[in-house]
Amino acid sequence: MYDNSRILYDRATKVIPGGVNSPVRFFKPFPFFAASADGSRITSSDHVSYVDYCMGYGSLLLGHANLEILEAVKSQLDIGSLYCIPTEKEVILGEMIAKLIPACEMTRVVNSGMEATMNAIRLARAYTKQNKVVKFEGCYHGAHDYSLVTGDSSGNSTPSTSGIPKEFSSETIVVPFNDLDLLEEVIRKRNDICCVILEPIPANMGLVIPDKEYLNNIRKITFENNVVLIFDEVVTGFRLALGGASEFFGIRPDIATYSKSVANGFSLAAISGSRELLEQFSPSGDVYQASTYAGNPVAVTAALATISALSKGRDQIYPRMTRICDSLIDGIQEVANDRKITCKINNISSMFQLFFTQTDVRDMASAKTSNLDMFNVLFRALLEKRVFIPPSQFETCFLSYAHADEDIDKTVEAYDFAFSLMKPGE
Ligand SMILES: *Cc1c(COP(=O)(O)O)cnc(C)c1O
Repeated sequence: MYDNSRILYDRATKVIPGGVNSPVRFFKPFPFFAASADGSRITSSDHVSYVDYCMGYGSLLLGHANLEILEAVKSQLDIGSLYCIPTEKEVILGEMIAKLIPACEMTRVVNSGMEATMNAIRLARAYTKQNKVVKFEGCYHGAHDYSLVTGDSSGNSTPSTSGIPKEFSSETIVVPFNDLDLLEEVIRKRNDICCVILEPIPANMGLVIPDKEYLNNIRKITFENNVVLIFDEVVTGFRLALGGASEFFGIRPDIATYSKSVANGFSLAAISGSRELLEQFSPSGDVYQASTYAGNPVAVTAALATISALSKGRDQIYPRMTRICDSLIDGIQEVANDRKITCKINNISSMFQLFFTQTDVRDMASAKTSNLDMFNVLFRALLEKRVFIPPSQFETCFLSYAHADEDIDKTVEAYDFAFSLMKPGE
């Protein structure tokens, strides 16, 4: 089942560090290599087809190789792939986002989520003339120096990777998610904070759901203390609802960052927000930010086609994904109960994750109570049954509009098989 992948992996390790171009893609003993994908399925170089719940870590909201998106992109390819001079399509994209999401008066387009959050923080620092960033333990904002930080609420922070100076991470204060009192204490006590950045629905410590009114209260506290609120909507944007978490919860952040679902598998990201903040970017302002590939016509075309399809189909697409995800969760919960497997499943709209714990998972500390050995058994067993979920407990499973009831049946059977390999009551 893995012969070709094994050969490719051996070749890969000779020329690519660790054999992969992003570390989360590695799992033991070696990952399968992808050959193609279509709809809800991804096919390996070993000719095995899996139901995909990784879906480009949530990027492929409309499914792999979506015809409507690909047709649009193909017609753009015929007339060029990079101009490095503005295009009408970029204007239309900015207009579309502004019309859909009230908080997004202006948008600057970049290429990746990491670029978006890095520049959002730069905007907040320039605007407030303060340096300290408040982030949440377990929230991920891309692999850059401002955000790869572990620490605590008193500001004892250290880089979470080698290669970053301690001085950089000392600019970041880390607080636990879903603890409003502690956040409020930190913000009220200090006057050197430029921004609070968070995933409104954290999807990088497994999946965590914010307490009722938690996000509203964060909005209130940041507003009262002149702290810029950044919603990192790289996962939730266009997925949770067309207008992302800000629409879903009815909250207006000062800056929102988008990437994964916005262009259905093409690399485009966006920094959006109030005119006052965004106009700080040069050339209108003095915050330098630049990129050769930013707003390239291929990615912009994909984004326009994606947002158009989502706008047209919003009344079918979102309810259908939620229904299919809910029925998947019901199915998994039922077979887990039948086999007396202790677990907690967090889910919202088209996202879910299962934790092998009896503790409600509401922050990083509780996510860490999950039994990772059992998660590894689950991951391997699902692969064997041709279901691919992200290889880490601390990621989220994603459905797309292409997932159908037959995928769900197959997936529930695969989870049942996985649970049959575990000791009940563990
Ligand atoms: C994936 C992710 C990022 C980083 O995006 P890249 O395109 O991988 O740089 C940032 N924030 C969140 C919430 C993400 O899930």
